[in-house]
Amino acid sequence: MDTMTYDYTEPVLSPKGQKMRDILADYITVVSHRLPDDVTKKLVELSKIEVDPLQRLIYDTMMENQMLAGKLKRPSCQDTGALQFFIKCGAKFPLLSELNAILKDAVYRATKQAPLRHNAVQTFDEFNTGMNIGDGIPSVFMQIVDDSADIEMYVYMAGGGCTLPGEAKVLMPGEGYEGVVRFVMDRMTSYGINACPPLLVGVGVGTSAETAALNSKLALMRRVDSVSPNKNAAKLEHLLEDGINHIGLGPQGFGGKASVMGVNVINTARHPSAIGVGVSTGCWSHRRGKINFDSDLNYDLPLNEGVEL
Ligand code: SF4
Repeated sequence: MDTMTYDYTEPVLSPKGQKMRDILADYITVVSHRLPDDVTKKLVELSKIEVDPLQRLIYDTMMENQMLAGKLKRPSCQDTGALQFFIKCGAKFPLLSELNAILKDAVYRATKQAPLRHNAVQTFDEFNTGMNIGDGIPSVFMQIVDDSADIEMYVYMAGGGCTLPGEAKVLMPGEGYEGVVRFVMDRMTSYGINACPPLLVGVGVGTSAETAALNSKLALMRRVDSVSPNKNAAKLEHLLEDGINHIGLGPQGFGGKASVMGVNVINTARHPSAIGVGVSTGCWSHRRGKINFDSDLNYDLPLNEGVEL
């Protein structure tokens, strides 16, 4: 049988492009072993509300895992996911034309540097590229939001188990927002356990399947304890959190008081005849980072206090 390979030639980047690529490769490495501050804080909080020895042992094991991941500079979980970037950018950011090449090469380098598990399988051809890059991987979702020269970027490692509960569909308008709740609860009762609870559940509402799906993923980029600015969406977040906790998944699905770290809803306007709904889940090892650059590539890491690259 022929062995298929993925052709990748390292791009020729400008000196500034090389600098951004190297910073990003270093940051992806950090994201692979250090959870964001909001997630760590929430895991500690949830560990304190469990009273049974089994649940406490699981949280203790998670904490030890994180301590060792940081000390040994090794991934928090063996599944280091498929890399995804969610970006808001100013039209004057100086490296726009190189950005896709910078991101892909940063992932390529981080894969060797971190190291990261090889998670890019070329669809239909069914071979692993061995580099975490491939056709359309890493995924890049970008919005040009203003005329500035700044860029803000979420880096996300989408693991297999936590991606599995993801789904989006379009509801008949008569199903109303009760239909949204039914859809999310159906997914959580059938597949939530696959995603290594406690979960961060992202719910997206909009017109069509793809807008709802993207909204649900963007909801996972929000901080765990954040609340929607829309009062009805905030109410939905609260009710869903309560409902999913009552399923009783508990840490790693062993039962317990809390199934979720939180539920985040992102909603956009919709066609009057359709309610698009999507759900995405993040696991306890929710490796989501954020890095903001200015035009000189000065950067800050708002989710990782004290980290220097
Ligand atoms: S769901 Fe998360 S913690 Fe569980 S195996 Fe996947 S990436 Fe790892």
